[in-house]
Amino acid sequence: MADEFSGAITTWDASTIARAVGEGVCTAEAVTAAHLQRIAAIDPQVQAFIHVDTSRALAAAQAIDARRARGEKLGPLAGVPVAVKDQIAVAGLPQTAASKILQGYIAPYDATAVALLRAADAVVIGKTNQDEFGMGSSTENSAWGPTHNPWDLQRIPGGSSGGSAAAVAAALAPIALGTDTGGSIRQPAALCGVSGLKPTYGRVSRYGAIAFASSLDQIGPMARSPAELALVLQVLAGLDPRDATSEQGPALASGPLIAADLQGVRLGVPVQWRGVREGQDPGVAAQVQATLVQLATAGAKIVEVDVPLLDASVACYYVVATAEASANLARYDGIRFGRRAAWTAQATVDELYASSRAQGFGAEVQRRILLGTYALSSGYYDAFYKKASQVRRLLTAQLHAALAQCDALVGPTSPQCAWPLGARTQEPMAMYLMDIFTISANLAGLPALSLPVLPHPTSGLPIGLQLLGAPWAEWRILSIAKAISDLQPGPQRWPTAVEAP
Ligand code: GLN
Repeated sequence: MADEFSGAITTWDASTIARAVGEGVCTAEAVTAAHLQRIAAIDPQVQAFIHVDTSRALAAAQAIDARRARGEKLGPLAGVPVAVKDQIAVAGLPQTAASKILQGYIAPYDATAVALLRAADAVVIGKTNQDEFGMGSSTENSAWGPTHNPWDLQRIPGGSSGGSAAAVAAALAPIALGTDTGGSIRQPAALCGVSGLKPTYGRVSRYGAIAFASSLDQIGPMARSPAELALVLQVLAGLDPRDATSEQGPALASGPLIAADLQGVRLGVPVQWRGVREGQDPGVAAQVQATLVQLATAGAKIVEVDVPLLDASVACYYVVATAEASANLARYDGIRFGRRAAWTAQATVDELYASSRAQGFGAEVQRRILLGTYALSSGYYDAFYKKASQVRRLLTAQLHAALAQCDALVGPTSPQCAWPLGARTQEPMAMYLMDIFTISANLAGLPALSLPVLPHPTSGLPIGLQLLGAPWAEWRILSIAKAISDLQPGPQRWPTAVEAP
């Protein structure tokens, strides 16, 4: 492998870095320094990071180098820099979920996912920007300002894990963690031209992730290829006694990801995801269709499946997610948790709660709390929350039935490529409808990933293909994703709006 370690360190993928550090080709410190330097040069334009942890990242890298010098065997992510969504706890670093109400909060412990990455010898380099509490599809709902898409700085990176996606795309970090409640890993991955995986509900511990909608939230990896997602998932997966909803689940394969033989693959296209739907960019539909034709030519069997309730998924999700959010966010009242508003002697406790919450939460978060409280209120519970729970159960059954006929459901990740900053901020409904393809996986607890396919025919912007699998079938959809990316090779594409690494 003559040229495996050629090119700038920031272009190396995680497995290359781990090998280079493990074999002494370069130090973990050099890898971390290279990424920190690129962050300093590029991130003022992208604004993927809320907080860069320069000194502790370098210290962690040096400690890894010292262990290697003593002859210790290093972990599978030796010296790999990782960017962590602000929603996820990293001990000693600010954790605000991009909300003013958590300004000044320093996480006292590592999320389990972060602890596992560290145990595998990864190096946390910083916290990434996101929509406040994960609520949004564009990272414009951050209290700290938006992140810019490295393919076009005037466009959004997707959301809510937009900072993590932009960081991986712009070669500021080879891997990142995101959280996905309704598409927040997959959609920004799609819009930034990287890969992202939402694991089966329970596969990865949520301990240390600030709750948005607990029955939908999952932590997952973002990276520049399906093989890299697999490598990180192997580190993250497993039962955690600190998260009662986590499960051991059937084991993942060990060793590197191997591409599926497309001859034996059956892909289901839901009729509800076919063709050009209302609000969908025809260029996105065309490239997804072109990819399906390539897959069929390579031997995959493409079958049509019918999942009628997919059409109800946005409506169902925005009742369930807002209901759970209204309960989860009740704790931020300025007394028990969250930044307290200025207190005047005349104010009652209720007024102090109200002013702390009004000042601390952004407009979208307030909208969701109102919606969720309404959906759960005694007069409307049956009409909204109960009905949505019933739809959720039926949709799950329909998805299981469809997945019994194929290895994965396939379609676009997002109906649109990255849109201009500001284009949808005044229209919450238009923003919600961008989640049409991603939220069913969360409602049903299924694993789903996005991988970049052919770019948009006119704008050249990235397009993501989504694969949605049966419970615990991460490895199957990852191996199919690898086969698809092998089919559409070409040199690694770097975003065009920032200097190439
Ligand atoms: N865009 C969706 C929302 O706004 C999904 C967010 C997420 O997955 N965290 O709720």
